[in-house]
Amino acid sequence: MRVDHIAIAVNNVDEALKNYQKILNVNHLEIEVVPNEKVKVAMLELEDTRIELMEPTADDSPIKKFLVERGEGIHHIAITADDIEKDVARASANGMRMLGGLRTGSYGRRITFIHPKSLNGVLTEFCEAPPKESKAE
Ligand code: ZN
Repeated sequence: MRVDHIAIAVNNVDEALKNYQKILNVNHLEIEVVPNEKVKVAMLELEDTRIELMEPTADDSPIKKFLVERGEGIHHIAITADDIEKDVARASANGMRMLGGLRTGSYGRRITFIHPKSLNGVLTEFCEAPPKESKAE
């Protein structure tokens, strides 16, 4: 398993990008709107993980709620492994409180979340490993 990404809730992705680009060597950058999750996402590819900046695109977006309640900051960490079905089954069997079932997140990957109450205050995402061919240099 590894950390696939760390997600940060921001008020404005473009403004936040200016800050993060001051400190990071970003290998690759993609910006995408995810209608399902009502967010605009900037994915900053680093050498061994990614940082995801998330801006709400609607007032009923979960990110909007987070920003209102807590302000900008770390929203979740995402863990990836080869077999998401197995990870979810193990987490559920171990009493983790899942937030919804497997669904499609950014870049068409399957994701699900574990409630922060199950993991010491940290919202944690499981996400499907990217297809092997996309790792080709
Ligand atoms: Zn995520």
